[in-house]
Amino acid sequence: MAWGKKVSAGPLLNQERALALLERTLSSGELPPAYLFVGPHGVGKEEAALALAQSLNCQSGAGEEGPDLFEAAGSSSSEPHSGIRALRGCGICSACSRIGRYSHPDVIVRMPLPRPRGGKKGDPADPTDVLAFKADNPYRDPEISTGSLSIGIADVREIIPQLAYAPVEGGKRVVIFRESERMTEEAQNALLKSMEEPPPHTIFILTTHRPNALLPTVRSRSRIVHFRPLKAEEISYYLREHGIASGDEMNVAQLARGSLKRAICIAEGGVPGREEAVRLLSWAVEGRNREALAWAAGYTFKTSGVMLTEARSVLEELLSLARDVAVVQSGGKVALMNPDRADMLRDVGRRAPDGAGLQALEAVTDACGEVDSNVNLALIYATLFDALIPLGIH
Ligand SMILES: [Zn+2]
Repeated sequence: MAWGKKVSAGPLLNQERALALLERTLSSGELPPAYLFVGPHGVGKEEAALALAQSLNCQSGAGEEGPDLFEAAGSSSSEPHSGIRALRGCGICSACSRIGRYSHPDVIVRMPLPRPRGGKKGDPADPTDVLAFKADNPYRDPEISTGSLSIGIADVREIIPQLAYAPVEGGKRVVIFRESERMTEEAQNALLKSMEEPPPHTIFILTTHRPNALLPTVRSRSRIVHFRPLKAEEISYYLREHGIASGDEMNVAQLARGSLKRAICIAEGGVPGREEAVRLLSWAVEGRNREALAWAAGYTFKTSGVMLTEARSVLEELLSLARDVAVVQSGGKVALMNPDRADMLRDVGRRAPDGAGLQALEAVTDACGEVDSNVNLALIYATLFDALIPLGIH
């Protein structure tokens, strides 16, 4: 499957509200020192950050002649598209194309990469390689083997001295921190100084799906732009256009929860953590304590960044399953997040005692917080399993 640059423009098509807000600040000429792009994974936040960088640095005279980012995604789109000019630069001049390839000297992109942890040397990924991969695969993540994934103070310290100088090519310097919820507190504090006294010609863009994981001071210094989950029709349109999940686009899109990244994961054979989450839930419902506890015990002493990332994925999936049980129990008409497991979830919801779904939801939420505060994974899973057992009591 070819992943040329052009495929990446898709999801931006339907973020009119976010793009219109950016467009307004652009045309007012009063850019804030920092933006915080908030929204789920895989809905076009990074794409929008690059588009903004392109329109600020385009060599062919702003984005007025650029491609229309608001073209409709199939007939299903009900959002208005008129009256908003394209935000992006021309997309083809040297500056635009280098920004799209992450190789423009004034557009600096940082993302969580493995750090040595606890004195042990990690397996640091080369940022250049990672960015080259992202340029070709905007909705996939490269496999990074070990270490704790974070944006550390070294990343920020490396950038700050550059900000004292004018942009190399005379445009606007754009510093993008992807998945900024993984910035260490130290790194955020170091960045904060620059955000408070913004260097001329520089704008920061932080993207995140968990804004509350950032320091309140960082949030309050940033102009927040919300990106919405994509509609299933939009995702299925994109998949069809790019030959992904042929013939099964709509089913995949229904499971994607508004994220193109998730849709591509599903199409390519699985969402991280989903299988484990479904298994853990089944064990609880069937009262198979021995299997569950043996599985949990396998996580004793496993604290690498990759393990924690994996655990977050399992818990995220479990959260959606517990939420669906709670939805069934509430008798509401809200759509399930796991329609492919609807039979099982409805069965669990109907048979379990009232309120068991909500309690499970709370227990999983607690477990999510514990993963972030570095509690032993084996203990987290074992405690969580205990809390899920009521789902199996009839
Ligand atoms: Zn251009």
